[in-house]
Amino acid sequence: MVGDEPGNQIYAASPGWDIDPDAVGFPILKNGSVVMLDNSILVAAHPDDEALWFSSILDSVKEVLICISHVASRPDWTEQRCKCIVSHPIKNLSCLAIQSSEAFDGVNWNSPIITKYGLLISKPGFSDDRYKQSYEQLKKRLEQRLLGYTNIITHNPWGEYGHLEHVQVYRVTKELQAKFGFNIWFSNYCSNRSYPLYLKYASSLDSDFLSLPTNKSLGLELMNLYKKYDCWTWHTDYEWFDRECFASDPICPKLRLQPRTHFPLNIVNI
Ligand SMILES: [Zn+2]
Repeated sequence: MVGDEPGNQIYAASPGWDIDPDAVGFPILKNGSVVMLDNSILVAAHPDDEALWFSSILDSVKEVLICISHVASRPDWTEQRCKCIVSHPIKNLSCLAIQSSEAFDGVNWNSPIITKYGLLISKPGFSDDRYKQSYEQLKKRLEQRLLGYTNIITHNPWGEYGHLEHVQVYRVTKELQAKFGFNIWFSNYCSNRSYPLYLKYASSLDSDFLSLPTNKSLGLELMNLYKKYDCWTWHTDYEWFDRECFASDPICPKLRLQPRTHFPLNIVNI
């Protein structure tokens, strides 16, 4: 959006983006550029997360890093995911090829307990040890890959629709933020499943957020790629939201008691 008034010129630096002027603030825009994208890396947990939750910025970040692609119980899936990475249209994308802890249904999402490693695995039949090992592996690898970046864009603390590995990637990034001092940004997806966890963070979320149009054509292209290799993990008829929002996550988030505009949510059902 480019306006005639001098005050609107700040949006001219982002051609093709209709940035909502009511939904942006310092330090999201500075000197005509989107601060969030400056020297930035997108860190996504699994192949296809980059298409579902980050389509608006996927072709604008410096690098895209996918973390967990291998599933011991589904070697066919691992293989197909690797083929998708090789054929991926985003060329600055790579994958750490970390193995999944496969504890997806091990969390009590009605009353989730946050731990250093992500969330408490409390249901029988799921390994908390493997989940903790996964945290240490992620930390070791991300420590090397995130060094030198100014902005890390990643999963939100409640794991979008409620995936414990999304939460874990966020928690590792958060631990490294204290060491490296980079900025963290996360998006506004939530679900009926993750809502109780979201509520634990709601009162500390920033009022300043960036609202961007999703890239529906890129999202669809990627959905078709993952479907071609039979490893699309989301609704087969998924339609992208028109917009998605990003908020910054300071090193020490504060409880905000004053009246304020709340970070809007894109709610999906699971
Ligand atoms: Zn995922």
